[in-house]
Amino acid sequence: MPDQTVVPVPLAQTVLRGIACKCPRCGQGKLFKGFIDLRPSCDNCGLDYTFIDTGDGPAIFLIMIAGAIVVGCALVVEIKYQPPFWLHAALWLPLILATTLLPMRSMKSLLIALQFHHKAAPGRLIDRNPK
Ligand SMILES: [Zn+2]
Repeated sequence: MPDQTVVPVPLAQTVLRGIACKCPRCGQGKLFKGFIDLRPSCDNCGLDYTFIDTGDGPAIFLIMIAGAIVVGCALVVEIKYQPPFWLHAALWLPLILATTLLPMRSMKSLLIALQFHHKAAPGRLIDRNPK
């Protein structure tokens, strides 16, 4: 039977588990069954992954970071060399794909690990006058 005890984990270890795409609780089980499809639960400790809801968070972070990198590089190359537009397309389209798709799994897993570490959950209304 899997161990159900929750041991507090330091933030640095949580981040490493997230980047490695491992279970946020045990750090051993796999988080994904496909590119970014989640498994239903951890195959090592049995943690139910239904609490996970990163939404568009990983994509938004990566779009902002990749946009700054690609636009910065494109501006520098345009100002220094003024290449034809086809060369811009040949240079920046692969860089856009590399800077957005390659880190997508790790970024999603990192946000899941941080969500688990900080016990983040959707807001709920509290009944202040229970009957
Ligand atoms: Zn686990």
